Amino acid sequence: MKIAIVGGVAGGASAAARARRLSETAEIIVFERGPDPSFANCGLPYYIGGEISQREELLVAPKQMLIDRHRLDVRTRQSVEAIDRRRKRLAIKNLVDGTSYDESYDKLILSPGATPLRPPIPGIDLPGIYTLRDLRDADRLREVVLDAKQAVVVGGGFIGLEMAENLVRRGVETTVVELADQVLPPWDREMTTPIAEHLRANGVELLLGDSAAEFAARDCPHFAGTAARSTGSPSPVGQSNREMETVPLSAGLVVKLKSGRELPADLVVLCVGVRPENALAVAAGLEVGPRGGIRVNEHMQTGDPDVYAVGDAVEVREFVSGDPIQIPLAGPANRQGRIAADHIFGRDSSYHGTQGTAVVGVFGMTVAMTGLSEKVLRRTGRRYEKIYLHPTDHAGYYPGAERMSLKLLFDPEDGRILGAQVVGTSGIDKRIDVLAMAIQAGMTVFDLEEAELAYAPQYGSAKDPINMAGFIAAGVVRGDARVAHAAELSETTNGEATLLDVRTLAEFACGQIPGAVNFPIDELRNRLGELDRTKRVIAYCQVGQRGYLATRILIQAGYEAANLSGGYATYCQTNGRRA
Ligand SMILES: Cc1cc2nc3c(=O)[nH]c(=O)nc-3n(C[C@H](O)[C@H](O)[C@H](O)COP(=O)(O)OP(=O)(O)OC[C@H]3O[C@@H](n4cnc5c(N)ncnc54)[C@H](O)[C@@H]3O)c2cc1C
Repeated sequence: MKIAIVGGVAGGASAAARARRLSETAEIIVFERGPDPSFANCGLPYYIGGEISQREELLVAPKQMLIDRHRLDVRTRQSVEAIDRRRKRLAIKNLVDGTSYDESYDKLILSPGATPLRPPIPGIDLPGIYTLRDLRDADRLREVVLDAKQAVVVGGGFIGLEMAENLVRRGVETTVVELADQVLPPWDREMTTPIAEHLRANGVELLLGDSAAEFAARDCPHFAGTAARSTGSPSPVGQSNREMETVPLSAGLVVKLKSGRELPADLVVLCVGVRPENALAVAAGLEVGPRGGIRVNEHMQTGDPDVYAVGDAVEVREFVSGDPIQIPLAGPANRQGRIAADHIFGRDSSYHGTQGTAVVGVFGMTVAMTGLSEKVLRRTGRRYEKIYLHPTDHAGYYPGAERMSLKLLFDPEDGRILGAQVVGTSGIDKRIDVLAMAIQAGMTVFDLEEAELAYAPQYGSAKDPINMAGFIAAGVVRGDARVAHAAELSETTNGEATLLDVRTLAEFACGQIPGAVNFPIDELRNRLGELDRTKRVIAYCQVGQRGYLATRILIQAGYEAANLSGGYATYCQTNGRRA
């Protein structure tokens, strides 16, 4: 058995190592265009920012280790240029000496990844405009940031935000420009507002709903090849700019935005997404989907049973909906590589789809998601209900408890969990991972009620946020609790409903939803007569608990009542206000 693998990083290296574990006799050749196989793409922003100080730490499995331990034939700086499927041969170019040669295969695994997009904006090819994909990009950026005072990151996705954090860490004034009206477009907007606020609080300028329209060279003597810089004020993370010095600068740019605003920049990092590297596959006549992903079956086989494809280059099934989708993430790429190798050696491994489970951390705040977002559910017309809650990460009485925001999306008929998003500073990854597993296992909100999770006061609560989400959502499915949502408030309250704030007078005085009347929960039973019986009542408190209690009182007193899910906190998140 001779296995050829195109691409030696996440999916490719995983496939190669698994293939060796399954067969000591197979010939396994890994072709990698770059100088390093198996490096940690996900660590690149932190290497640029200095958090990861040594380049070697990013080499997950250095070439020599792959050769010695797994007896792989690792050919770096070798680019596979064409596939002849009929003859089962590859055309390879040696990028070191420019020579070309052929290699045969019995089975071929494609794991070429995805290329960062460079949209056709005027000036896009000017020096100083970077993308980030591999170690060489990171090496260049790590050098350039030392000479930069101002940077523009185009794109507020997870790589864009990680870059912004790391640029600030290097003392670079950083602006993020994002076309959408939110950062992290795959998330629902209200779940990203705490992150947006937090980025701003840490010195990142966020320009949402705007985009780069043109790049131009900056016509300024200060930036004409050398720059004199003075000691600046400390950056928000405490790094001060260096003493006056003369340093070469790679570029002086102006980023012209669609809004008309012009941003000076010493460097620009384009983080506007990726597209599957499908050229080889397309030229070989393999089928690709509408977004360019190579089409594969559940065993990661293309239409040609001897050619497998994995990782960012393939189209996957979204786990919950079953819809074809492109989701470039490291976990799926690694698992798919393993599945392809298994299948080559006769195992019945199959890939069940990608949930899009993702987590991003910036300046100590974390936001994570799994499954379908509300915007996707709405777009696809699938029935859903949602609830919000704002529990603490561990028992409130134990020092250091931090509030998180959790959104759960579920089927209102059978309670099946469809998606979840969590944001906060502590315990976020743990909750999203539990919910990711729940989705994978096809669980319902009733299962979350029953989940038995590890508890001691410093780690969680006897009723963990996961249980709480289950209690609330299950109450909705059972019909015990009715919920209203902040996003629909203006429509629902337009004179047709009473908006009832059941918090204390002091809380109410600190900020309330326009049009609300304030009956603190402890007074509600005695003041029921003051409420218009002909109107629906939408009750709210700070996070939803007292609001729920109020709706139970109201419903039993004969009112039509609903609880504003997530309370005033969710209202503020939805409306971009501080709770
Ligand atoms: C900066 C950054 C941060 C990221 N952070 C995260 C994260 O935190 N979490 C997460 O889940 N994902 C993250 N990702 C995404 C993750 O790295 C990818 O999903 C994953 O690496 C995809 O694996 P892959 O094998 O498909 O492609 P890659 O890992 O990109 O490997 C493809 C390799 O194939 C080589 N290649 C392509 N064509 C040829 C050819 N014709 N001949 C020879 N070699 C070829 C390329 O040189 C490349 O090295 C990040 C990505 C980047 C760039």
